[in-house]
Amino acid sequence: MAQTQRILIVEDDDGIAAALVRALTAQGYDVDRAATGTRARAAVREAMPDLVLLDLGLPDSDGLDVCRSLTSDHAGLRVLVLTARVEEIDIVLGLDAGAIDYVTKPFRLAELLARIRAHLRVVSPAPGRDAEFAVGPLTLDPASRRVWLDGTEIGLRAKEFDLLAELMANAGSVVTREDLMSRVWDEQWFGSTKTLDVHVAHLRRKLGDRFGEMAGSNASASDIGIRITTLRGVGYRLDETPTE
Ligand code: CA
Repeated sequence: MAQTQRILIVEDDDGIAAALVRALTAQGYDVDRAATGTRARAAVREAMPDLVLLDLGLPDSDGLDVCRSLTSDHAGLRVLVLTARVEEIDIVLGLDAGAIDYVTKPFRLAELLARIRAHLRVVSPAPGRDAEFAVGPLTLDPASRRVWLDGTEIGLRAKEFDLLAELMANAGSVVTREDLMSRVWDEQWFGSTKTLDVHVAHLRRKLGDRFGEMAGSNASASDIGIRITTLRGVGYRLDETPTE
């Protein structure tokens, strides 16, 4: 790894925080800890971490609000949520909270470390994938990690970008759920694949919304010249669609 990756642990429980600091430091990460939401916001402003490990149960603020403000103030910031509040997972991964993943408490340290490794894996572009490429009205540049729809840039979060890149690289062909999970998330994926569907929904909405802004209120996602087709239980396919 070329550069030490920085992780910010946001956890008020001293025992859990100490164990996490110890384990992550032993893995070679540069680790900071914040015990409150306020401190977490300040810590991210001071030194941008590569990943934030965020406990939702904080003494001074609602962890969900902290998650929302971190991901909206810092585009592309990866937040992995620790939560005992299973009923809030949809919200955690939802558009406005914007976490990339979650681990439920109580968690196994090995599982948490594997997830963190997966999210911080240094992705080296496959041969021929370092050049900008286009499908219909979409253009994607892997080097700068930017995406344009009809020349207008679209803001995507890290995993949304990786997912779109996979679909675009295989445009017209089905990419299986297993392949998407292993290429965009992790080879040793052991959790649910719900996060995949959530991210596809975000992508569809962002692409569709962008078109809606340009074309007025009657736009549908398929009018934009591309479509992400669901093959239930199998995977997803990005298609170029005819536009009038
Ligand atoms: Ca807590």
